Amino acid sequence: MKNIILLGAPGAGKGTQARMLEEAYQIKQLSTGDMLREAVANDTALGQKAKAIMEAGDLVPDDLIVAMMDERLNENDCQNGVIFDGFPRTVGQAEALDALLKNRGNSLHAVIELGVDDNALVDRITGRFTCDGCGEGYHDSHKKPKVEGVCDVCGGESFSRRKDDTRETVEKRLKNYHDQTAPLLPYYRSQGILHTLDGMQDMKKVALDLKKVME
Ligand code: AMP
Repeated sequence: MKNIILLGAPGAGKGTQARMLEEAYQIKQLSTGDMLREAVANDTALGQKAKAIMEAGDLVPDDLIVAMMDERLNENDCQNGVIFDGFPRTVGQAEALDALLKNRGNSLHAVIELGVDDNALVDRITGRFTCDGCGEGYHDSHKKPKVEGVCDVCGGESFSRRKDDTRETVEKRLKNYHDQTAPLLPYYRSQGILHTLDGMQDMKKVALDLKKVME
């Protein structure tokens, strides 16, 4: 059983790599961003609290995130291991995750930082879009579908862009990453489980580097 955290600024490629790992190792990707977007779409009590915060590019309070994750980790699909994508994002969340795993007799196998250059992130984020059918990610200039308007993976013809993937919000999200999430790097380095990969490489090369850490 392997529990992995993917750490990195917004647009670093965490989601793309998590999807590849999920397939290769049969461990579940849990993206707090996806879970929150679903809560907003379903207009749940959590979604109502999170909506405006997410649109502004700020962080949803730790207690809400930790309670959501505590509940999610009880599901059957998490029992073989989890790839945490976008969580934890604060030292408080990291401490809470340690406790959640410990209570279940589990621990973290590795924390993988995808290092990227801030200047590349704005372009990566403002150009990205995903297939509504299967979630495959694309980009206006770096990864267009082979046939325009048709998903390479599932053949779907409907795509979406995230509401918070605008230039203004990205700057706020990057600042939040450096102020609130980057302190997790020394936290995990001191536990001896931090691995840093070059996230500026081609995504297939990043995936190969990740595989080495997993094995
Ligand atoms: P993401 O899809 O990971 O970029 O997350 C989108 C937005 O959801 C973030 O900008 C935050 O507003 C919120 N969010 C996602 N994960 C967390 C988290 N672990 N802690 C606080 N807010 C989060």
